Amino acid sequence: MRILFFVITSVLFFACEPEKEYHVNGGRIFGTSYRIVYESSEDHHNEIRSLLDSFNRSLSTYDSTSIISRINRCEEGVVPDPFFKKVFRTAQMVTDQTNGAFDMTVAPLVNAWGFGFQKMADVTSELIDSLLQFVGMHHIDIIDGKVVKKIPGVMLDGGAIAKGYGVDVVASHLTSLGVKNYMVEIGGEVATRGHNPQGNFWRIGIDRPIDDPLVLERKTELIVHLSGEALATSGNYRNFYIRDGKKYAHTIDPRTGYPVSHNLLSATIIAPSSMLADAYATACMVIGLEESIELVEGITDVEACFIIDSDGEYEVIYSSGFHQFLR
Ligand code: ADP
Ligand code: MG
Repeated sequence: MRILFFVITSVLFFACEPEKEYHVNGGRIFGTSYRIVYESSEDHHNEIRSLLDSFNRSLSTYDSTSIISRINRCEEGVVPDPFFKKVFRTAQMVTDQTNGAFDMTVAPLVNAWGFGFQKMADVTSELIDSLLQFVGMHHIDIIDGKVVKKIPGVMLDGGAIAKGYGVDVVASHLTSLGVKNYMVEIGGEVATRGHNPQGNFWRIGIDRPIDDPLVLERKTELIVHLSGEALATSGNYRNFYIRDGKKYAHTIDPRTGYPVSHNLLSATIIAPSSMLADAYATACMVIGLEESIELVEGITDVEACFIIDSDGEYEVIYSSGFHQFLR
């Protein structure tokens, strides 16, 4: 009798709610990996892959034939595509909002310090001073559909915004296909919608910022629960090197020309788009904890959590609206 009851309820369950089919797609892009989980009766990896490839041809400095690489080489008559324009306009806005802490023209400095697409330089204070003349979003613009550089040495680095936008591009493609439940992730930048295969909000782990370039010691500090929001984390615990006992990390302050160094170990931003989350997260790493709290509290729909080094201990500091994501 009990067995029969079980059989009947299962049949009813499947009759009213057909089992949802989730796909998991993954691969490599922008020198990192991606993972996309979505509910759909069909697998869309082929079209997602070609979308990512065309995105790469626009904004990847890893591809020497991309639009951004051609602009950096000062090729004549490069016409930016919609991907490039969207990233560029958003970057201009974030640069204004952060008083230049976030700035795509930081590229010559990123290269000099050994984190870019060109060979590392022998860094001297004279070199940094001379490179600073090429840094500043006011040196470059899109005018009448063309990129115009006011000085030829200006170069762009998309490392702190393009991955996030790539996530948004895939996410809106899935939305346009009618997909209601998905999680898109490229190298730690995330966008979510609806629910995970268990029917719950998407659970995203925030890593403990342990200095660990080879990612051997991964530990989750906290888990956030998302449904409809995007998230990005920036930190200086993976992409850095030690020289003469001093740590040099990949976040550069475009105003001083030097890698930042302070007690803010990682910044996680939750925002309506992954592109914004990505850019704000890097900006926070430049400006440090106090200014970051001020920045985030001043922007609607943006929340943050910061992991700081508090006398050798990891301490997590949340913006005022973050707790809803710890549900
Ligand atoms: P991740 O690559 O882990 O997502 P970020 O989003 O913080 O990290 O991006 C860091 C990259 O952005 C650097 O490797 C560099 O290419 C670039 N970058 C460094 N400093 C700045 C800055 N102040 N503004 C804009 N881009 C930056
Ligand atoms: Mg990022």
